[in-house]
Amino acid sequence: VKRILQNWPHANVRIIVVTDGERILGLGDLGANGMGIPVGKLSLYTACAGISPADTLPIMLDVGTNNPDLLKDPLYLGLAEPRLRGPDYDALVEEFVTAVQQVFPKACLQFEDFGNSNAFRLLHRYRDRACTFNDDIQGTAGVTLAGLLSSEKLTGIPLAQQRILFLGAGEAGIGIGDLIVEALKLQGISTDAARRQCWFVDSKGLVVKSRTDLVEHKLRFAHDHAPLATLLEAIEALKPTALVGVSGMPQTFTEPVVRAMAKLNAKPVIFALSNPTSKAECTAEQCYTWTEGRGIFASGSPFAPVTFNGILHVPGQGNNSYIFPGVGLGVIASESTRVTDEMFYTAARVLAELVTEQDLMVGRLYPDLKRIREVSLKIGTAVAAVAFDRGLTPMLRPADLEAHVRDVMFDPHYPDYV
Ligand code: NAD
Repeated sequence: VKRILQNWPHANVRIIVVTDGERILGLGDLGANGMGIPVGKLSLYTACAGISPADTLPIMLDVGTNNPDLLKDPLYLGLAEPRLRGPDYDALVEEFVTAVQQVFPKACLQFEDFGNSNAFRLLHRYRDRACTFNDDIQGTAGVTLAGLLSSEKLTGIPLAQQRILFLGAGEAGIGIGDLIVEALKLQGISTDAARRQCWFVDSKGLVVKSRTDLVEHKLRFAHDHAPLATLLEAIEALKPTALVGVSGMPQTFTEPVVRAMAKLNAKPVIFALSNPTSKAECTAEQCYTWTEGRGIFASGSPFAPVTFNGILHVPGQGNNSYIFPGVGLGVIASESTRVTDEMFYTAARVLAELVTEQDLMVGRLYPDLKRIREVSLKIGTAVAAVAFDRGLTPMLRPADLEAHVRDVMFDPHYPDYV
């Protein structure tokens, strides 16, 4: 692996996005065809946060695929073998992370679209050993927390009084739950009480203590409650203030589900985050129609504005690209040796603070994407400040941190010659 990395012609790699293609968006196992994700995410680093393309490196760890269509496709370019699992897989990832640290010692390593059994384990294994994060777990959490913090301004219900019900208890859902817990702890709420504000429904129903089929990452959110089979039953029993869809299952926020949320709440918060658009739990129009225009909606993929009863609603896009480019920028600019949860919480807070009155007037929970360079600069500066405050960098703190971060941003313009 080290020899392969040494073939790359640019020495100063600062950000790597790596996938093994097992869980691409909500599309599942695309094997080596998942390479579009690292390439696309790095393009977003350049477009949204001004990271020089020469400092980026997309990587696909081709460990086979369990996608039967790809395995029998004679034109499939990847390794046409079942996925590598167990100790051999772990040894390969270990060799890979070690080689990255040796060949590109200043690189931040972003894990993207790994299957959830590997994603949580690998994050746990490397987060305190390397400059690394998992975007599906931590980036998603950042952007969703920002949406919840903005929604406070419309509902009048502070995060500390929200009850949040998730459909889907995978990387995105549990990652969001964990970051909400961190945010609530900073407000003085105990870990247990904070966890009890987050409830999960997975493919087998409500996640509760008495279930014996729960994988480790769900256990901390398995509360004492009678088992319930459906999302609708869970809504009726738990009376959530916010519903977050991260299941990859389209049209699961059905009319009865959305209407039940509208009956319980003056302004129900409904986030349909599954990507791509075809996988969204409900559309923007369905949400506004079934809540009679009272719903506060955000989605993972874009939806066009909707006019309902003569009022314009602009759905916010809770896309990770609001968060990870700015976090990466801050890590690069500060030469931070770690990426921490505090950085994602800080990024969420800064993002929510950048939402304007005009955004809120049309129900948009995120700043206009046209402002993304400014957003990334502000997030980058706040994240770099965390790195300096926590002693995570050998660098001396620049006197004007924002000016320093701005200087790091690549601007694809030639100087004007006179
Ligand atoms: P994952 O595979 O880790 O988790 C999926 C979860 O959904 C699992 O807990 C599974 O049990 C549950 N599930 C599956 N079918 C279900 C059903 N019928 N009812 C209830 N639960 C069901 O995947 P993930 O990384 O958590 O991603 C899930 C979705 O969220 C994907 O579509 C992904 O594109 C989307 N996502 C969006 C963003 C974003 O836009 N900000 C970020 C990350 C993930």
